[in-house]
Amino acid sequence: MLRFFKIVGILLVGLLGILIFNAVRYTPVENAPLKPMTLIQPDANALAAQLSEAITFQTISWESGNPDDYASFIALQQWLETTYPNVFAQLELTRINTHTLLLRWQGSEATGQPVLFSAHYDVVPVNPGTENEWTHSPFAGDIADNYVWGRGALDDKSAVVGLMASVSGLLKTGFTPKQDIYVALTHDEELGSEDGAVALTQWFRDQSITPAWSLDEGSFVLDGIVPGVDKGIASINVSEKGYLTLKLIAHGEGGHSSMPPENTAVTVLAEALVKLKDAPLPGGLEGISEKMYGDIARNMDFSKRLLFANLWLFKPLLSSVLDDTKSGNAMMRTTTAPTMLSGSVKSNVLPATATATINFRLHPRDTVEDVVNWVTAAIDDERIDVKMGEFTEASPVAATDNDGFTQLVQTTRAVYPNTIITPGLTIAATDSRFYGDITNAYRFNPMVINNDDLEGFHGTNERISIENLVRATQFYTALMQQQ
Ligand SMILES: [Zn+2]
Repeated sequence: MLRFFKIVGILLVGLLGILIFNAVRYTPVENAPLKPMTLIQPDANALAAQLSEAITFQTISWESGNPDDYASFIALQQWLETTYPNVFAQLELTRINTHTLLLRWQGSEATGQPVLFSAHYDVVPVNPGTENEWTHSPFAGDIADNYVWGRGALDDKSAVVGLMASVSGLLKTGFTPKQDIYVALTHDEELGSEDGAVALTQWFRDQSITPAWSLDEGSFVLDGIVPGVDKGIASINVSEKGYLTLKLIAHGEGGHSSMPPENTAVTVLAEALVKLKDAPLPGGLEGISEKMYGDIARNMDFSKRLLFANLWLFKPLLSSVLDDTKSGNAMMRTTTAPTMLSGSVKSNVLPATATATINFRLHPRDTVEDVVNWVTAAIDDERIDVKMGEFTEASPVAATDNDGFTQLVQTTRAVYPNTIITPGLTIAATDSRFYGDITNAYRFNPMVINNDDLEGFHGTNERISIENLVRATQFYTALMQQQ
């Protein structure tokens, strides 16, 4: 017996040794040596002034259609032409559905694939009733406290200005890229991209042009947003989640509610909803989420490194801990969100049908068909019809072992030293879900944002620091210089 405990003891010490050994070695990955990169020093005041002016054009995407017949969009396009005249003089302009601008910078060799930089210049409206909560009027373009304030400052006119200023500045130095560079400024991202990115993607197909990669919005350098990490996290997102709405329609006996049957359409539906809640779609720490949490954990304290360094043992535990957080759950699986319910139209009438609307956000591991099959099997009730509503598949996952991703990582390291760089997954929808059909679509705005800044996103007091505008311009310029 003593011998047994001795053996168990030795094994435990050995196991602990392995766990600790792995954890000690689990430190930030030594990246390839940093390519020497000389960053430009752009004129911060000029950039701030450009963004400030861009914000004053109320290029709002209204769900109900455009009331001023795109006058503000046309005015902004004219402003671009006057502000960056050399760009329009030297690059070839193609208009896609009038308001999306595609600029082609012809490469000197152009033997390889071109690349595509993209940003949208439409903005969401100011939420009704919140006008007074803005410390600076949303379309004044105020510059104050080292920030430029207003709707579009973050989403996404800062990228428009950063890209245009970069091209303009490089043209002035006489730079010509080797490969073609396309810069797209789209106009309906906030409405679903039908006339912009969708048509643009089709244009590339029609011309038989396949960009090597595209870079557009969809993530930032996150500062203080992930608890327990004091470094910034540059999440260069390689895919985005899809979207699916399903209607569950339960059938029952209608009639007066004074003598109800044991089950009505409502109770049948309620049972189905509980079954769905108890059967979340499969998912866990794998693929993008494993890489992302792993890259971050390498920079965390010893206890977390101990867990992530030993996924062979702790993966189930970590998956279930992350599952309990809203963001972890969304990163690891297709989410299920019941959003609307309806039954009978009167309090004393039994419903002949009861309907629930369920919104799913599809993880790249699932297709729309997978989700429909999963839901049908989970409910397993013939009294319920499952009807498809709107849907988009999750995007293909862009490569991380190609030149494009390496250039993005290298340029991020040059502009943001001492930052964790990792591939990630965009939870919301962007123009890139269409670019992803023809190229490796990366989603990353090279700007730092914290929790306060996040509130401005489609919210109030949207702003961006002038420092960020400078960094973004350094980033875009350095990246263009590598083409
Ligand atoms: Zn946006």
